[in-house]
Amino acid sequence: MQSIHDILLKYWGFTSFRNIQEDIIRSVIDGRDTLGLMPTGGGKSITFQVPTLAMDGMALVVTPIISLMKDQVDNLIDRGIKATYLHSGLTLREMNRTYEKCTNGNCKFLYVSPERLCSERFIDHLRFMNVSLIVVDEAHCISQWGYDFRPSFLNIVSIRKLFPNVPVLALTATATAYVVNDIMQCLEFRKPNVLSMSFARKNLSYVVRHTTDKQPELVHILKHVAGSSIVYVRSRKKAKQVSDELNMSGISSDYYHAGISIEEKDDKQNKWKSGERRIMVATNAFGMGIDKPDVRCVVHIDFPNSLEEYYQEAGRAGRDGKPAYAVLLTSTTDKAVMHRRINDSFPPKDFIRRVYELAGNFLNVPVGSGYNQVYDFNFNLFCTTYRLPVLATNSALKILSMAGYIDYVEEIETQSRVLILASKEDLYNVRADNPNVDRVLQALLRTYTGLFVDYVFISEASLSFRYGISEQEIYESLLTLTKMHILHYVPRKRTPYILYTTSREEPKYVKIPLTVYEQRKARLESRVQSVIDYSNNKTACRENILLNYFSESKSEPCGRCDVCIEQRKSKEPAVPADIQSGIVYMATLKPRHLADFISTLSFPKEKIIEMVTFLTDEGYILHLDDDTYITEEYRKKHTKKEQSPAN
Ligand code: ADP
Ligand code: MG
Repeated sequence: MQSIHDILLKYWGFTSFRNIQEDIIRSVIDGRDTLGLMPTGGGKSITFQVPTLAMDGMALVVTPIISLMKDQVDNLIDRGIKATYLHSGLTLREMNRTYEKCTNGNCKFLYVSPERLCSERFIDHLRFMNVSLIVVDEAHCISQWGYDFRPSFLNIVSIRKLFPNVPVLALTATATAYVVNDIMQCLEFRKPNVLSMSFARKNLSYVVRHTTDKQPELVHILKHVAGSSIVYVRSRKKAKQVSDELNMSGISSDYYHAGISIEEKDDKQNKWKSGERRIMVATNAFGMGIDKPDVRCVVHIDFPNSLEEYYQEAGRAGRDGKPAYAVLLTSTTDKAVMHRRINDSFPPKDFIRRVYELAGNFLNVPVGSGYNQVYDFNFNLFCTTYRLPVLATNSALKILSMAGYIDYVEEIETQSRVLILASKEDLYNVRADNPNVDRVLQALLRTYTGLFVDYVFISEASLSFRYGISEQEIYESLLTLTKMHILHYVPRKRTPYILYTTSREEPKYVKIPLTVYEQRKARLESRVQSVIDYSNNKTACRENILLNYFSESKSEPCGRCDVCIEQRKSKEPAVPADIQSGIVYMATLKPRHLADFISTLSFPKEKIIEMVTFLTDEGYILHLDDDTYITEEYRKKHTKKEQSPAN
């Protein structure tokens, strides 16, 4: 067996493991069921990738997010590792190729979305694969006590039965003690085995700011914290709106949410990553899989639904270990907003049954049929057709999914792809009646490689740009070539779909169990309450609150959060007030260097420096480019004089 350090160096170029990575890897290689708890960005992927490369056979990796699946597979392939994936957005032909690769031992990592696991075809093929490790990424999704329960994760345990001697590695960044135990139970761990690292972040300051108007407060914060930031909001509309307002305030900003196209998403991400845009205003669709080390501040304008989510999103600040801030903005209306959010998440059961009935009508599924069928589902059209409220309808569909009637998959965006079926020789003889068809084929061959071997992602937009053929013509030509059996073109698609997991029922027989409704509602209420408590708290260290929430006991206050700082200030003697007024007074008279304050005011140097920093951060004094300090009052007087010399 190749040593795990050699593998790490060979494929990743890293010289050492981080934190508990090696412990997790050894545990897996020893064949033990393992639950690895590491914060986001901690490096969980390597903990299953390295041992799999060290062992014979392949890893079956279950992961809930299709876009991340693709990123990870691409990443492995770039490193020269054989990897592939399966999800319901693929064509039958693509799936067959994947099965073939895996059963031939031509693949080390097979990523699958959890709903694949109950497909009989999949199980039939799986039996013939040499699986040596089962990985469950984002493993908290298996627990109905967690904040992101996905019922299809429960299928994983039946896969375990096929490979009774293969260990399972569950990975997550967020789990309370309760969820940790639940994960191990749901996955039928042979022996409990949790490897966890501390979730404390030494460079991150947690801050809660109460304000009557969040937007100006946001501008104030972003003007005082230099560098990249993320601002989290709850709705797509608000993401754009807040970003527009920031731009108008002179802060370069962009927005991001699940509703924008792949190309635009890439573009926005790149501009933000490179620093061309400083701020990203986003819904929670942004962040997973994004690895930008120098984010200085993460601001939440709207409350997250749980401290798990808060910790995860806030934790995107300061990955580089330098000081960073996690700020939660609150106002008096937040409590009411949260209450409404709970109601929207759990509409009345009669309403849920109605949505079930209407969806069946909308999709033309006769009662008693539909089982295992997939239907494209235009959610917006559905809501407008029947005048349904968007949020509650969306929740109803999710609840129906959990109750086992349908599987509603909201956002799946696939890229267009092409596989050439004809042989290279045959291609010379292709002469279509339409000259465009030929041009498109040539353009394709010139732009992409590997088209004869496997499906290759293509972009109609970039072909159109490079060869001056309209996207519509490209689309039509590719369809023509498909009909001619020269290639197989799978146009991109972005519609949500519904899979009927039981055949359509009469609404009166639709049962929504306590576990799916009442119990989940109660848990959401208690999670939301934890966020409200966190925001109202004025006495306990914020980091301690978060760590305690994750059942990590740590009694030392962090010393960096707003509560710790406030407490330190209140304990200090009254002296700072005098330094403060001394500095402000001096800076009102004329521009001052730091040295002026130090030589004039009879206080210890460190105190003065600390206070000047504080006053600058809080906007009481301004730090100019020539390294002097003035007050706003001084600036106003000064600029007036300049503008009107006659006076
Ligand atoms: P997670 O899944 O825990 O959020 P990832 O597995 O995506 O984190 O890893 C985050 C980043 O850390 C990746 O860019 C990865 O290459 C890097 N990384 C992981 N392990 C190491 C290591 N031992 N040395 C250096 N970088 C690492
Ligand atoms: Mg990960």
